[in-house]
Amino acid sequence: SAVFLKFPKEFPVPGEHMEIQTKELQADLKPNSVLLRNLYFSLDPYMRGRMRDAESYIPHFQINQPMNGYGVSEVIESKNTAFPKGALVSGMTGWEQYSVIPEAFAKHLRVLPENARTSKKIPLSAWVGVLGMPGFTAYSSLKIIGQPKAGETIFVSAAAGAVGQLVGQMAKKLGLRVVGSAGSDEKVDYLLKELKFDAAFNYKKNGTILENLKRTAPEGIDIYYENVGGETLEAALEVMKNHGRVIACGMISQYNTQQPYGIRNLGHIVSKRITMRGFINDDFANECYGDFLKDVSEWLEGDEIIYKEDVQEGIEGSLEAFVGMLNGKNFGKQVVKIADL
Ligand code: NDP
Repeated sequence: SAVFLKFPKEFPVPGEHMEIQTKELQADLKPNSVLLRNLYFSLDPYMRGRMRDAESYIPHFQINQPMNGYGVSEVIESKNTAFPKGALVSGMTGWEQYSVIPEAFAKHLRVLPENARTSKKIPLSAWVGVLGMPGFTAYSSLKIIGQPKAGETIFVSAAAGAVGQLVGQMAKKLGLRVVGSAGSDEKVDYLLKELKFDAAFNYKKNGTILENLKRTAPEGIDIYYENVGGETLEAALEVMKNHGRVIACGMISQYNTQQPYGIRNLGHIVSKRITMRGFINDDFANECYGDFLKDVSEWLEGDEIIYKEDVQEGIEGSLEAFVGMLNGKNFGKQVVKIADL
């Protein structure tokens, strides 16, 4: 198991704030609990928020306890009729090889569809990526908060990541002009050549972020899909048109620093009548989870969208992969492959 040791102040360090430990499996399953063999585990930026000793929308990790998160698993023992032995499930599981999931958490698991085992187009890992929480985040918030209209311009930050890839491709489908930013030339090439963004820039090069944004979105932007915060948000507010919308999904540039960036131009929100709305993806589950599953599955089956994954093989290097993801070393959705089916 990946065990949480200590609250980090800046970037977490494997061995100091978290480590891999061998733990005994609890032998007896309580009523309605299940034993899972974990196959894929998702490494997500929100997990850094769970390493903070503070109240939030989700409890922080417990010291000396295994960490948890989204995964895809096989039920290998079950005292719960909704999740029989042999079923494939996705949902909250442990950052470990095997997890005992008690009744209170088991009820939030989802059984994967019949064809999940064999589908060529939709591998199991996709259930924590494009068809999992990050995909749902992108789909629901773009529709509900963004209110996108054909002909508008959207700017997506962290555009080559798990959420950003789908936001950009959906926006293209809806007829928007799509501009993206990412942290390497390789990622920018991927945005332009494979995801067919209209423009993209490496935010670490060729002048300030604002200069890059003015160059790639000379007409201004209607929607900013905010994944990064800090200087990127400041630049987006600067070029935003009147009545623009900011979909405040995340602010990863601020997660590992003790010196938050002070946004200097919030006054634009008033003068340009900007709407900026934050959300946590679960907020939209009732409203559009069904539509999401149907649409994105169809788009994948029909080769209408693509996605990239960065797969860490084995739990051993997964702590480093997590820190790497926070640093931008991942190229696509970061997952850990724990075991073969
Ligand atoms: P990604 O796959 O995009 O991985 C994180 C990426 O963030 C890195 O690859 C890196 O890309 C970028 N990044 C890291 N540090 C910085 C920095 N200082 N400045 C700019 N970019 C940086 O992760 P996700 O797609 O899973 O998440 C994207 C955002 O969405 C995060 O902010 C996350 O917290 C948020 N989120 C919010 C949810 C919600 O319900 N509100 C749910 C899911 C995600 P690069 O190489 O381009 O720098």
